[in-house]
Amino acid sequence: MSKIAILYIAIGKYDRFWKGFYMSSETYFLPGFQKTYFVFTDSKHIKSDVQINTLPATDQGWPFNTLNRFNYFHQLANQLSGYDYCFFFNANTLFLKPVTPGEIIPAQEESSLVHLSWFVESNLEPAAYPYERNPASSAFIPVEKSHDYYMGGLYGGSTEAFLKMTDEVISLIEMDKTNHIIAINNDESYLNKYLLDKRPRCLLKQYGRPEEWDTPNDPSIIFRQKEKVLGFFYLFRLKKKPLLYLLRQLYFRIKNLVKHS
Ligand code: UDP
Repeated sequence: MSKIAILYIAIGKYDRFWKGFYMSSETYFLPGFQKTYFVFTDSKHIKSDVQINTLPATDQGWPFNTLNRFNYFHQLANQLSGYDYCFFFNANTLFLKPVTPGEIIPAQEESSLVHLSWFVESNLEPAAYPYERNPASSAFIPVEKSHDYYMGGLYGGSTEAFLKMTDEVISLIEMDKTNHIIAINNDESYLNKYLLDKRPRCLLKQYGRPEEWDTPNDPSIIFRQKEKVLGFFYLFRLKKKPLLYLLRQLYFRIKNLVKHS
């Protein structure tokens, strides 16, 4: 039976998502498979055991806690080569239904990779996809080349394909670093550049929609609403979000209070 490596990052308060992620993954993700978790974290609450390897990660703030993920993966290359497949999940991933090998394990003709896209099912024109459009960036994609846009919160593949992707994305990020550029959507922008000429298995919203969306109404995976778990003030400060974000969050909080009073 295939050996599965699961890569996960929980820096700062993101460790609050770990328990829900782990329990739901154990229940629903590739049930019956041998899964090993590699958790990059600065948390004292996530403990190593036979199945969980915690690896030290320092809090480098936003966006580096997410942008540097490929360096973390690269550090593990030797260890990962003992596994058949690697999957990365954002910290706030929660499995709600079984996810089977037929659904998630990509074939060779799919570049041995699996990625998630919300855009394939949207009405948005590819020209409006949130690619990096700055020609000075290594993640640049010209409008006419716009194709499928993949999310950075869930992906995987054969270990060989995953590590190849890791190394090539690191090269793109390093190239930009020398020019003091960080692409518009951080790691996701570089990932999309790498995937532009690949045709990975594409998972639709059913396999990872935000918790706060109403549809699809019976998803296999959701991404939990970060504001609910981390608090909107934490995210406002971490991501240096505009004041408008804070005001909107406060507005919704008050509206909810009034509705339930
Ligand atoms: N992350 C983390 N600590 C941080 C920021 C990010 O552990 O301070 C990790 C975590 O795994 C998270 C992922 O990076 O799921 C992507 O960050 P986030 O979900 O906030 O990004 P978004 O999906 O909003 O772009």
